[in-house]
Amino acid sequence: MERNASPAEKGSRLVVVFFGPPGVGKGTVATRLAGELGFDFVSSGDLLRDNVARKTELGSRASGFMNAGKLVPDELVTGMVLERLKGLERGVFLDGFPRTSGQAEELSGFLADHGLSLLVIDLEADDGFLEERLSARRICRECGAIYHLRNLPPAKPGRCDKCDGELYRRDDDRPEVIRERLAVYHGQSAPLKSYYRERGFSRTLPGDTPLAETLAAVRKLIVEAG
Ligand code: AMP
Repeated sequence: MERNASPAEKGSRLVVVFFGPPGVGKGTVATRLAGELGFDFVSSGDLLRDNVARKTELGSRASGFMNAGKLVPDELVTGMVLERLKGLERGVFLDGFPRTSGQAEELSGFLADHGLSLLVIDLEADDGFLEERLSARRICRECGAIYHLRNLPPAKPGRCDKCDGELYRRDDDRPEVIRERLAVYHGQSAPLKSYYRERGFSRTLPGDTPLAETLAAVRKLIVEAG
């Protein structure tokens, strides 16, 4: 059977926004499909955590918001993300950006200026499911691979299957911060669902299906869009 050409093979410059509440699987799905489909991967949370680890001025201004589960102000996040997008030569998967209407407006302007097209993958799941998933999430300190202690456990406890790096729990994956992050999502980010839906950019999928199913559904949407 003939294989569909991936968006990268067709030479398209597509920006795919992975949208949805914390813990819905944006990062897991995007990192697993990026290499296969020929996209770069940019996560605003990873960029911020990298700034915190390097003790940059941006990192020191952002860390208090992050540890409290609040959004980092737009003026710190938007420039950082758009600067990163400028250098890219192929399509990109964006994880965690935009999260406010201000960020969405800035991104729209950037896409128009650079002749890029947009697809929003809107993943949904309820809060109880997300709280359970986030509290059991573990991440590799070396390569960023994402695990779940029960559903996606590493072969060797505490070590990454890919690089043997140490697995850790993010500071903001503690129960009280998880609840705040979900409240912030519902208050500040969820309104973007209708922003993108009304403009015809978004496709909604359940985020609580088994990973292989979610990957297959997302892959199909991206190949069709490319
Ligand atoms: P994430 O890794 O996407 O869960 O993001 C972790 C934390 O970084 C969030 O709880 C926010 O404090 C901050 N953050 C990440 N992306 C954004 C964004 N687009 N706007 C504001 N804050 C963000």
